[in-house]
Amino acid sequence: MPELPEVETSRRGIEPHLVGNVIQYAEVRNSRLRWPVSGKIMQLSDCRVISVQRRAKYLLLELADGWIIIHLGMSGSLRILLEELPPEKHDHVDLIMADGKILRYTDPRRFGAWLWSDTLDECSVLAHLGPEPLSDLFDGKYLYTLSRNKKTAIKPWLMDNKVVVGVGNIYANEALFVAHILPERPVHSLTEQEAHLLADTIKQILRRSIEQGGTTLKDFLQSDGKPGYFAQELFVYGKKGECCSICGEKIESVKLGQRSTFFCRQCQH
Ligand SMILES: [Zn+2]
Repeated sequence: MPELPEVETSRRGIEPHLVGNVIQYAEVRNSRLRWPVSGKIMQLSDCRVISVQRRAKYLLLELADGWIIIHLGMSGSLRILLEELPPEKHDHVDLIMADGKILRYTDPRRFGAWLWSDTLDECSVLAHLGPEPLSDLFDGKYLYTLSRNKKTAIKPWLMDNKVVVGVGNIYANEALFVAHILPERPVHSLTEQEAHLLADTIKQILRRSIEQGGTTLKDFLQSDGKPGYFAQELFVYGKKGECCSICGEKIESVKLGQRSTFFCRQCQH
């Protein structure tokens, strides 16, 4: 599943080809995604792209009179074609640009979304989202303040979009390992020092993934193939029964909030 670093990498990949360019029209071959593709997108004609932004895992294409809001769902990907290429089975949406380039959206499982909103404030999918993890709004002080009196387990809390956006299962597992915090501890048990370490660790891990993603940027220009989601170096995620790379103890796994949770009891407290 594309996580925040992949979405940010997609944004950086498509941005230079779209900003200042004009969408002549959209070709929607299959509008049945997670929600139907907005009618407004199907009727686009000669709209200049002002900016390509990201909020949580949504890509936001700013046009003169509104926003195209794209979510990659479970299996969506975007790439830039330099010339017309016959679409394949899962290529559901194309944006045909005035300079001949095409932004092509591919999504085998069709859990993605292409929505329209006149303003970002009116966009219901963006309402009630917590701060961006890489913004200054998200830091140890914020996490610590928010954590007081909360009895739920730390890991599902970190993955709650109202607390902070874009910390998916892999990143939550890895960040808690690096910050030496057991995922099942109650939120209110976080000390101020741990909250700072955890916030810094989340930023560090996401930044490193985005940097790694930078090396895949050239793939956005490939006429065949898709931008690969990058392999990350993982400490605990998916490693049940393997030896911890720090202390050699066996990595354990439990379900927390229905999500697989991996940790080392020796390294995390
Ligand atoms: Zn360990």
